[in-house]
Amino acid sequence: MIPLAVPNLSGNEREYLNQCIDTTFVSSVGEFVTRLEKDTCKRTGAKYGVAVSSGTTGLHLALMAAGVKANELVIIPSFTFIATANAVAHCGAIPWCMDIDQESWTLDPAILQEQLEQETSVIDGQVIHSSTGKRVAAIMPVYTLGNVPDMRKIRGIAEHYNLPVIADAAAAIGCTYHGETIGELADFTVFSFNGNKTITCGGGGMVVGCDKESMDFVRHISTTARVSAEYDHDVVGYNYRMTNLCAAVGCAQLEQLDSFLLCKRSTRQFYKQELSDIKEISFFPETSWCHSSCWFSGVVLNKNTEITVKEVCAYLKEHDIEARSFWKPIHNQAPYKNAPRSDMDVTNDIWSRIITLPCSTNISEDERETVVKHMRYFFTKAIK
Ligand SMILES: *Cc1c(COP(=O)(O)O)cnc(C)c1O
Repeated sequence: MIPLAVPNLSGNEREYLNQCIDTTFVSSVGEFVTRLEKDTCKRTGAKYGVAVSSGTTGLHLALMAAGVKANELVIIPSFTFIATANAVAHCGAIPWCMDIDQESWTLDPAILQEQLEQETSVIDGQVIHSSTGKRVAAIMPVYTLGNVPDMRKIRGIAEHYNLPVIADAAAAIGCTYHGETIGELADFTVFSFNGNKTITCGGGGMVVGCDKESMDFVRHISTTARVSAEYDHDVVGYNYRMTNLCAAVGCAQLEQLDSFLLCKRSTRQFYKQELSDIKEISFFPETSWCHSSCWFSGVVLNKNTEITVKEVCAYLKEHDIEARSFWKPIHNQAPYKNAPRSDMDVTNDIWSRIITLPCSTNISEDERETVVKHMRYFFTKAIK
């Protein structure tokens, strides 16, 4: 089977793990944790980093540090992985789902602006959602597939309404925005190092930011909010720290990030180049302002075709190729079906037409060619 996206552990992972065992530093304190925080900051241009147990727990902490409380609303794009919404719910808050734009598949600034203008009023400096009476507490754009949205516009809107911005950059490590690193675009930026991301720690995540006080708070509540060695804790904390074992893998992975990014991009380009004459499909977007990290590769079925995602995936599976549909939008998920939302024209239109194709960073030329061969075969047969 040619897998969709599996870890590539061809660097110093084993050596660094052995160092953890030899030194007995396997838990949440250790040189690899500190090093991964520093190296991630360097890569992303942020000042401070806190290594955590997952992208989801990182988002939860960042939302709390941004002041999100129970029964408040957090704006998210509906087209995202469920974890974005879950992190909001873990604060006791409710996602306010908004549509994405065609060109980036990320939060549409025009809709954000329109929704805030039409659906809220500012009362005593607080943004209040008119139909629910709830306070709007934050905006959480998602850097979908490694594409950064138009953050100049989104930040402009956020500043106008005095709302903090938390970026779900789970799969966006290594992308650039107008040629610059992305760690300063939002108040908090959160990466995931889950097994299917470009680099992995096994499981893990990282919160980065530039405000010392709030990043100190993130660190504090990530480790039980302890204030002294005498078991004093000043608030309700969490046990969300990354272990040195996970960080050891992460450090070895980060050393290979540049070559992983090149591989991700070349896989995406290869599929596009080899399949671009097939009339039934188009490809994943990339905007002029963002050099994408190209987390996943794949195709989008055109609107008027009779072919379905299921058919394509089933056919590829018969030929030992793993291909899958992509994120089902949040507004169609059981736990969030009553959450407030904008119209979902773009999200509803595209999500059901996406097919992700194998794009591990250790995929071989032969494997890519096999994928292309079977895709071509399927579509030429289907056309007849
Ligand atoms: C992977 C992912 C997450 C969650 O990260 P975990 O480390 O799996 O908790 C959140 N948001 C998006 C957009 C993701 O792709």
